[in-house]
Amino acid sequence: MCTTDAYNPFKVAQAAIDEACQTLGLDEATHQMLRNPMKEFHFTIPVKMDDGSVKVFQGFRVQYNNSRGPNKGGIRFHPEETIDTVRALACWMTWKTSVADLPLGGGKGGVICDPKSMSEGELERLARGFMRQVAHYIGHKNDVPAPDVYTTPQIMAWMMDEYETIKGYSEPGVITGKPVGNGGSLGRGDATARGGVYITRDAAKAYGIDLKGATVAIQGFGNAGQFAATLFEELTGSKIVAVCDTKAALYNPDGLDAKDVQAYKLANGSLKGYPKAKEISQAELFALKVDVLVPAALENSITAENADSIQAKIICELANGPTTPEADKILDAKGIVVLPDFLANSGGVTVSYFESVQNEYNYYWTAEEVDKALENKMVNAFKSVYDMSVDKKCSLRKAAYLVAIKKVADAMKFRGWV
Ligand code: NAD
Repeated sequence: MCTTDAYNPFKVAQAAIDEACQTLGLDEATHQMLRNPMKEFHFTIPVKMDDGSVKVFQGFRVQYNNSRGPNKGGIRFHPEETIDTVRALACWMTWKTSVADLPLGGGKGGVICDPKSMSEGELERLARGFMRQVAHYIGHKNDVPAPDVYTTPQIMAWMMDEYETIKGYSEPGVITGKPVGNGGSLGRGDATARGGVYITRDAAKAYGIDLKGATVAIQGFGNAGQFAATLFEELTGSKIVAVCDTKAALYNPDGLDAKDVQAYKLANGSLKGYPKAKEISQAELFALKVDVLVPAALENSITAENADSIQAKIICELANGPTTPEADKILDAKGIVVLPDFLANSGGVTVSYFESVQNEYNYYWTAEEVDKALENKMVNAFKSVYDMSVDKKCSLRKAAYLVAIKKVADAMKFRGWV
């Protein structure tokens, strides 16, 4: 999350928009609307700490573009949060909801704080303070936040409660990622990974790669990575040969039992010491001759330094921004099929959207209904991006930008904005 000019995430986001606008031949006003957030809120949040002192936190909410529908995107609690990171993520949310064909725009929020050093009470007061600052500017018809880095279903429930207290009526659809029973949706837990597996399955078919018995390596073993491990096995018949977290990388060429590794991590806090695999370095994990590599940890994991070592046929970017622009060029030149983040991980926001829909109807779907609706959305999203890549003879990343940006540009034009 470095925001020096050399690697400012919002500048990176804008560079991709500039390129897509040029390819699509969009006019200057449309281009300017696409490369800037429509609204931003910067605010302070005073919080009474447990020791009696008051600490003042800095918060942000960016509403990037609502031409296709209400803004949608998470809230991050992070010590290194910056407005440019929030702007970039709000921008990518706009493309993510567009590429998945959800009737939504893009938003993101953040608070500069270190949630790991805060008590539960302090976190609750911070969450409620955030909501007091934005309550009059969000809502299910306007802007719908969700959990993101270091924010949880519990934090969403506190925020929803604060919002409803201010407004004086029930509106669970103001926020998604809530606990099931407080308006949360079944199927949200594994939705990001499930969507990524559906996209990888269809990409493999399109590029003639057989996933049955194929090998998969996963970087990151948290929410996205753990579900990816079990679902790749379950839905495609491929085998997980390597996984890693911050403490250790594990390799077993005969295949790892994803559920067993998960149970080990739960019991021991990390993958370190798992007995049924060889420990390797993270650099070795990236360089394995596998069919599918899944970055599911943090941004900037695949860089100009390690991109050339990658031998995978497909990279499924479950993490946001795992590949730097320089690395992307190297992967493209090597002919590796890269499933870009805002397509590959769009399953999460898709089920968040289903959560809002269920909240509006006050009627809840079964897990099977959610999974089926997610599969339909992912199949169509991949098809539209793949067809564009064939039409324009470009990478799937460039094609995903073209599909997403064109839809937002068209929506602005029909509204008469540009
Ligand atoms: P998480 O915190 O649950 O898991 C992250 C995992 O990555 C942990 O196992 C951690 O040990 C590992 N990790 C972190 N730094 C690492 C490093 N340097 N080397 C190796 N492992 C490392 O987070 P998550 O929810 O699984 O999210 C992972 C990524 O997916 C993020 O980029 C997130 O923005 C993206 N994403 C998640 C969702 C979702 O629904 N969870 C949706 C869209 C995108």
